[in-house]
Amino acid sequence: MMTSGKTDESGAGVSTGAAEVDICIIGAGPVGATLACRLAREGVRVAVVDRAPLPPMEHPDFDGRAYAIAAGSKKLLDDAGVWGHLPQVPCPIEDILVTDGRVGEAPSPLSLEFTREDSDQPFGWMAEARALRVALNATLHASPNVTLLAPAEVTVVRNEAGVTVTAKDRRVVRARLLVAADGRASRTRSQAGIPVTKLPYGQSGIVCAIAHEYPHDNGALEHFLPGGPFAQLPMTGTAEFPHLSAVVWSEKDAMAHRLAGLPHEAFARELRRRMGDRLGEVTPVGRRWVYPLSAQYAQRYTATRLVLAGDAAHGIHPIAGQGLNLGFRDVIALSELLIEAHQRGEDPGSPALLARYQARCRPTNMLMFVATDALDRLFSNDNPVLRMARDVGIATVQRFPRLRKAFVKHAMGI
Ligand SMILES: Cc1cc2nc3c(=O)[nH]c(=O)nc-3n(C[C@H](O)[C@H](O)[C@H](O)COP(=O)(O)OP(=O)(O)OC[C@H]3O[C@@H](n4cnc5c(N)ncnc54)[C@H](O)[C@@H]3O)c2cc1C
Repeated sequence: MMTSGKTDESGAGVSTGAAEVDICIIGAGPVGATLACRLAREGVRVAVVDRAPLPPMEHPDFDGRAYAIAAGSKKLLDDAGVWGHLPQVPCPIEDILVTDGRVGEAPSPLSLEFTREDSDQPFGWMAEARALRVALNATLHASPNVTLLAPAEVTVVRNEAGVTVTAKDRRVVRARLLVAADGRASRTRSQAGIPVTKLPYGQSGIVCAIAHEYPHDNGALEHFLPGGPFAQLPMTGTAEFPHLSAVVWSEKDAMAHRLAGLPHEAFARELRRRMGDRLGEVTPVGRRWVYPLSAQYAQRYTATRLVLAGDAAHGIHPIAGQGLNLGFRDVIALSELLIEAHQRGEDPGSPALLARYQARCRPTNMLMFVATDALDRLFSNDNPVLRMARDVGIATVQRFPRLRKAFVKHAMGI
């Protein structure tokens, strides 16, 4: 028998007998890996399968990709033992300025600012994607309850009695529940016949890092422009770039590709036309990434001994930086139910547990889906009536501290 408890990425040294675990997770992205760490910490035996080797950790430089981690997600990462493994302290977000305008023009005078007065803790933390990966890998490898199969191509058989996952190299995992955390194009979801509704935006997100002249003071900017929102998010500085931020910048597809391909100086000029001079001189740092933006949702989150989590269940517009946070909310709900079942000696794949998971997550995820879609439609255009409506909305929220606090609490996931 292949014993769970030792991780082995290559498969070398692992016998081809079956590993008996409680939960098998397909996808070692941030959602699948965090779920594995959280469950393993409570004594649940978990197998994690990814078709790719866990992303390499050796890139020493900030590569521009980062996540805004909400307060509720930070608590989850703490509970999963991951937060303490982050190689550098994430940057707290303590101030968010929301403005509306046109490229090359000063923003509308009606702005909305969330400040330290609106919350007794940071609104979120900016963590490098690379740093989160390092921390997840370290936690997975340190956990005696995790069996890791990566890289591995697997086939899955599910029925009322259980789940059998067989890798091409004949390694076998038997589990009582399968979690599909294999991202937007989830093969596990399509093999289960769960339909997805997709909403293309015709927009792409340019993601990069910038160094700037003045400190960001832990402040973020969300500037709404007709082509799509432009966000500057504060990052922990490095010796080379003490004042550093991440940029997530949405534009219509063709424009995004054209802008991302500009030479250094011209790209810097386009950044300044959108950000103004609040951070002084701005210099792009490192690679630029372009992601097509779309939204989608699965018609249901469960099938026989299967649940969907993270992007496999839902993908939203990054306008509010909430995509991964929504996935982490799935992990919080699912891990609570599974840990409870484990402690009571109950079946983790029972239809009742699966129904409770779907009831807890899907309605709130659908709300976020609708809200981010509406925000994008309201803000990513130059219609004068909508411009006036959103300026009135921004000014209204600014005027009422209780409304601001309600917004903040929801976005923080607390
Ligand atoms: C431009 C942009 C900016 C964003 N910014 C933010 C932000 O600031 N904050 C935020 O919260 N979210 C943000 N998001 C969203 C966030 O990136 C995703 O929500 C998050 O990556 C989802 O994690 P996941 O683990 O569910 O899926 P993924 O990260 O897609 O991971 C899926 C994993 O499954 C594996 N896999 C796939 N298929 C198979 C298979 N057949 N067999 C085995 N393994 C498989 C993959 O190798 C991968 O490791 C952003 C997204 C975009 C596009």
